[in-house]
Amino acid sequence: MFQNLTRREFIKTNLMAAAAMTVPVEGFAADKTKADLVVYGKIFTAEGNQIVDAFAVKDGKFVYVGNRAGAATFIDKGKTEVIDYTGKGLVMPSCGNGHAHYSAGHAIQAVGTVLNKSDTLEKLFAESIPAAVKKARAAGAKTIFGSGWDRNFPPDFPYRQRLDAICDDIPIYFADEEGHKGMANTLALVNAGIMSKDGAVLKKEMRGGVIAIGADGTPTGYLSEQAGTFVRSFLDNEYLFSVDVVKGFIPKIEQQLHSEGYTMYLDGFSTYFFNTNFHKAAQEMDKAGDMHFVLGLTYEIEGWMNPDEALPKAVDAKKYSSTRVKPNGIKLFIDGTVESGTGFIEPVYNDGHQGSVNWSEEEMTDITRKANAQGLTMHIHAMGNAGVNRVVNSFVNGGKDEMRNTLVHVYGVMPSDYKRMAEHNIYVTEGMLWHHNSDELRNFLLERLPEDMGEKGFPMKSRRFVRNYRNPLVDLRTHHTRTGYKFSDNQRRAANVP
Ligand SMILES: [Zn+2]
Repeated sequence: MFQNLTRREFIKTNLMAAAAMTVPVEGFAADKTKADLVVYGKIFTAEGNQIVDAFAVKDGKFVYVGNRAGAATFIDKGKTEVIDYTGKGLVMPSCGNGHAHYSAGHAIQAVGTVLNKSDTLEKLFAESIPAAVKKARAAGAKTIFGSGWDRNFPPDFPYRQRLDAICDDIPIYFADEEGHKGMANTLALVNAGIMSKDGAVLKKEMRGGVIAIGADGTPTGYLSEQAGTFVRSFLDNEYLFSVDVVKGFIPKIEQQLHSEGYTMYLDGFSTYFFNTNFHKAAQEMDKAGDMHFVLGLTYEIEGWMNPDEALPKAVDAKKYSSTRVKPNGIKLFIDGTVESGTGFIEPVYNDGHQGSVNWSEEEMTDITRKANAQGLTMHIHAMGNAGVNRVVNSFVNGGKDEMRNTLVHVYGVMPSDYKRMAEHNIYVTEGMLWHHNSDELRNFLLERLPEDMGEKGFPMKSRRFVRNYRNPLVDLRTHHTRTGYKFSDNQRRAANVP
């Protein structure tokens, strides 16, 4: 139904509908002043799970929810805006998700082959990868891409050689189930300048990532974090992630978003394939009237990029702005994830290591200053408390408070940083899907982290999640009451939840 609304109406309606969850229904008319807005239609309110016919709003607050006749008494002719959605669908409460990876979840499945996470290494190389290569060859692929292998595979297996034995004339890259690691054949490494054609090793280290080196002194083909993104950037990403491919999955994102009760979200992986085809496709669809949600987009700057070369590209991507498309963010990773031991923490992990950190405080401060000056908001993946602290320092020293610079996926925060976040308008947005950890993972973290840190992580602490397509409000209730259902592997995969 939102396609017929202006953006202003769209946001207004969403905000008002969201507030409808908290007011009593029928006959609630606190004061008989006139309203700024009256909406008619088929309106769902979570207050008693009812469908009502109308609501009225004054000064941003609901003054009436109930029937048409009741709402009509709030209309001040010529002053009150009246919108009638009768016959145009359901008006319901909604939320915006401040950080999600729907693009990666849907795009990675739309691009290349999804491997089976339960495949053993032997099965992967004997069956799954040969099948993926065959499929890609038949389609005339210039790059073979896939994802989904078990993240616990060891770095020292001869991935590169085994991939070469299946295919050595087309670059291959397969990401793991989380997307934080990858395996590549020799040609992919040669294209990235990590090896030369005659087998010489040109690069063994990558800031913020690992190029695994085997006993023979050459890369095994296993790449983690920023080493993986570096090699991926040399794939034929225009082929993999074309505007048409993106247009194919945006409706799936939309369907998922709406099923979860969201009408807007900020995408934290918008340039995963190192181009702005997500931006371009979204803008074209919006202008054609085919986007029914608001999409925030970010431009990712990797640890191996020169920020002064990347920032102008992020500024350029703002040209894809439209009514529902907002390409206003810069995405960086300050660290990895706490559960994989790459989150940057203080005090250190129980085994004595501190995690990895991709940017110095000086660099982060400098990027923040330049991005904010260009009207770009910082959107930083920060998990460990020391990573969070470094980012907060950079925002405080380099950022503009009005830019709503944001940390995402935060696991731990030093107590002193909470206050500074409040003082400097620093946002923390936590995709609620990430708060629902299994008991198994929780116990694993408790063993691994310093005393107290395990229990202080994931502030919402809900460990159950359900995506209920028939009633998305169950999700909201689950979130608030911390009761619900088990989140299945398929659901996690669909949402690209680590
Ligand atoms: Zn993220």
